[in-house]
Amino acid sequence: MSPNQTPIRLGIVGVGKIVRDQHLPALAKDNDYRLVAAASPHATVDGIPNFKTIEEMLASGIEIDAVSLCMPPQVRYHAARAALEAGKHVFLEKPPGATVSEVEDLKALAAEKGVSLFASWHSRYAPAVEAARAFLAGTTARRVSLVWKEDVRKWHPGQAWIWEAGGFGVFDPFINCLSIVTHILPPLHITRAELDFPANRDAPVAARMAFAGSNGLTADAEIDWLQTGPQSWDIIVETDAGKMTLSNGGAKLAIDGRIVHEEPEQEYPMLYRRFAEIVRAGKSDADIAPLQHIADAFMLGRRNVVGAFYD
Ligand code: NAP
Repeated sequence: MSPNQTPIRLGIVGVGKIVRDQHLPALAKDNDYRLVAAASPHATVDGIPNFKTIEEMLASGIEIDAVSLCMPPQVRYHAARAALEAGKHVFLEKPPGATVSEVEDLKALAAEKGVSLFASWHSRYAPAVEAARAFLAGTTARRVSLVWKEDVRKWHPGQAWIWEAGGFGVFDPFINCLSIVTHILPPLHITRAELDFPANRDAPVAARMAFAGSNGLTADAEIDWLQTGPQSWDIIVETDAGKMTLSNGGAKLAIDGRIVHEEPEQEYPMLYRRFAEIVRAGKSDADIAPLQHIADAFMLGRRNVVGAFYD
């Protein structure tokens, strides 16, 4: 923040795991922001006024420039509309919405109101993503393999919404992979998808997918939420300049097995830096490409029913 700029007065909405783990620590160290209020049905943030709903927060008279919406995607659209209608800049947690068209509607409303809309894709800010992008820009990618396998019981314990319609199931983490893929590789489209739904749930627990690009590029994805032991968040690309492995969700880059980039992650501090940048520039940054792929997977995908899932 330059000396003549005042901090962005921020309200945070939907105080759950990601707010406690990432948003609050990032904001505490960022002079660009002053956290002035929070709204959540049950949880509260110490030291600031708390409200049950975003409507109460917006009507409270507290001066707020921007809001971060961190509740589950199924209930984010109405909150985002209320904030944009009130002239607030909006930071959307990922995924930016439960449908593509609701995010398009928010983009149009933000433009009409002259405020910034940020569809935050935290994995795009993983430490080795820009190095991977630069490497791929200098060669031709031929074949891509996406391996996203993690243990839902470890990472999302007891989160009912994630298994409900609009919660995305295993695509909640896999959209992070797609947010990187759509940032570093040429455009791809899904050609085949097979989705495994637990008999007692409305969202998938595993999937296998194939993609193609216009230039002969192909990709496949192995996605699983019941992976115990080592967890995999890998993007492997066969290129004319060697085999690129972007692992640990974008934290580590190797070319032909040699590590070329690895540093500690700073995803949320960088997300907030980007949000301040677009607010001050009067711009929006709301790419829906990762969300479109998930919509396409549900549209094209064959559905298998597999064993029931219990936490
Ligand atoms: P979570 O722990 O279930 O927290 C979500 C919170 O939203 C709940 O605790 C609930 O607060 C609140 N909420 C529910 N309905 C609301 C409404 N109508 N208005 C306002 N608040 C409402 O979920 P999370 O893990 O933080 O995930 C939230 C979002 O962040 C998801 O889109 C997820 O994909 C994304 N994200 C999560 C992670 C992660 O590692 N967990 C990482 C990156 C991004 P109360 O407790 O007050 O009822």
